[in-house]
Amino acid sequence: MPNMKLFKSKNTKIEVKIRKPLFARGFRYRLHNRDLPGKPDLYFPKYHAVIFVHGCFWHGHDNCPISHIPRNNASYWMQKIIKNKERDCRDQKIISAKGLRILIIWECAIKRKDIDFVDFIDYIDEWLKGGVQSTEMSANEPMPIFKFTV
Ligand SMILES: [Zn+2]
Repeated sequence: MPNMKLFKSKNTKIEVKIRKPLFARGFRYRLHNRDLPGKPDLYFPKYHAVIFVHGCFWHGHDNCPISHIPRNNASYWMQKIIKNKERDCRDQKIISAKGLRILIIWECAIKRKDIDFVDFIDYIDEWLKGGVQSTEMSANEPMPIFKFTV
């Protein structure tokens, strides 16, 4: 059975890896804002934008190259993950309705070997400043990715 603590701490490390370079570029954000549903990892008031860093397993990333439902207790995990996805979807609709843009960065996007990490941060930078609509970054999407999700 996967260790949930491990998933969560991995996700936190990824979040730090992204937010540090953004801070260095002058972006200011609030962490885990409790006033927004789902407490987005990063909230950028100036850019009317939030970023969620999603662990692929826990948030049920479809067709993910790095995360799969374990064969043991598959129905148990399916139920849990479906609930998480439903909650994410609800949260995202509420956030969108507040006029905020959403960028979902899947864990597998950060592990991509085909793009340089600096380029990766450039895309986020561009997304924030460019006023681009809600989108997601994952290992399945070409870079840069501007796919409408919400
Ligand atoms: Zn993934």
